[in-house]
Amino acid sequence: MNSDRTDELKRLDFAHVWHPFTQHQEWFNNEPLFIERAEGCLLEDSETRQYIDAVGSLWVGVHGHRHPVVDAAVKAQLHRVAHSTFLGLSHPSAVELAHRLVECSPAKLQRVFYSDSGSTAVEIALKMAFQAQQQRGEIKRTRFAALSQAYHGDTVGSVSVGGIDLFHKVYRPLLFDALHLPCPDHYENEKEQSDAAIQILEEHGEELVALIVEPLVQGAAGMRMHSSAYLEPLIARARELGVLIIFDEVATGFGRTGSFFATDQIGVKPDFLCLGKGLTNGYLPLAVTMTTEEVFEAFLGSHDRTFFHGHTYTANPLGCAAALATLELFEKENTMVKVQELIGDMEAMLRPLKKRLDVQLVRQKGLMVGIDLCGTHGEALDPSQRTGHHVCMAARRHGVLLRPLGDTVVMMPPLCITQVQLRRVVDVLTQVLDDREGGVL
Ligand SMILES: *Cc1c(COP(=O)(O)O)cnc(C)c1O
Repeated sequence: MNSDRTDELKRLDFAHVWHPFTQHQEWFNNEPLFIERAEGCLLEDSETRQYIDAVGSLWVGVHGHRHPVVDAAVKAQLHRVAHSTFLGLSHPSAVELAHRLVECSPAKLQRVFYSDSGSTAVEIALKMAFQAQQQRGEIKRTRFAALSQAYHGDTVGSVSVGGIDLFHKVYRPLLFDALHLPCPDHYENEKEQSDAAIQILEEHGEELVALIVEPLVQGAAGMRMHSSAYLEPLIARARELGVLIIFDEVATGFGRTGSFFATDQIGVKPDFLCLGKGLTNGYLPLAVTMTTEEVFEAFLGSHDRTFFHGHTYTANPLGCAAALATLELFEKENTMVKVQELIGDMEAMLRPLKKRLDVQLVRQKGLMVGIDLCGTHGEALDPSQRTGHHVCMAARRHGVLLRPLGDTVVMMPPLCITQVQLRRVVDVLTQVLDDREGGVL
């Protein structure tokens, strides 16, 4: 039974709130959770029930909720100044953070442009790349290339380079026409796919501004994975054709793939790097677009060469303070060493799932996991049955928060998850799948 307060929250939520990526007809049929507090990898709802946050509050959690070091950094910043504009002024936290990001980023990315979401970080990379090409005299370059099934955010520019029909199709008449290149789903035919992508690239080389890629893992597409065997020849060829390279590491950044950035596992480096999500440990909306000094220099000179773009909350000091603390913790807590162990644990724990008839494919790169469900006899699922959704709702009843992408169950735990918690997540999913087989679900 819910308390009166929870019932009142539910009434108001149903009356006034519109949730993201949510079919409200379905929302109204479920009991909403109201998260009141959290600590580490545990969330607590308004009925004091606890849940393991197995998707890191949608891919943002790194060191966990209410980490004392991040809490303290935000409080200290709050005592100095919560917000000051970055237009015409600067502030210490943003300067220090830019310096730290440059230190840990792939070589040559020396300039940091702040914004407040992954979508805006991508939007900025697209506009910057276009303007840089224009101002270098490459005026015929007006098109972008992206990978099939790409997801780069929800603003109109980032949707234009997106390739997920369910999300993007309805907007097509409003979008600019990007070129979509074939891309492997699960390391399949990487050489052929790379060759095919290169061929398309060569046909359009002279009209292309930039190629945008989610390196190694296409997250929202359902954890589709490829390796540098696909990416390296493609990127190298794009470079030769004068096409700039944008890596969208909004999802893969900050340790998720087993290295600090996915880029660290790839032999070619981008001209732009987009970061968001884990940047502030999930505390505050902050994102960055990093680029090279070469791109930056294309904007120097007369007033009309300026990058005319900025957001009101650009480089918000509280966000920068949270990000600085987040980066500091990677060193202090040896996060990347612990992550290697967790990745091994995860692999071992997922092994039995691979043998199940009702699991088509287990995808794992680092701590990014997608489990493709199928029918209990291995048959294809009807997407309208919303099996992924029902499985995640059942896991919730066992105290584990998961969120599917279609019929792929996603796990993207905070990097600080304990082995015991991870065990619990996998056990609950197994239990739910068993129940489903027994017709309980
Ligand atoms: C989440 C995501 C985005 C969009 O970030 P928002 O902060 O939700 O705007 C962009 N690119 C990738 C790869 C993402 O996973």
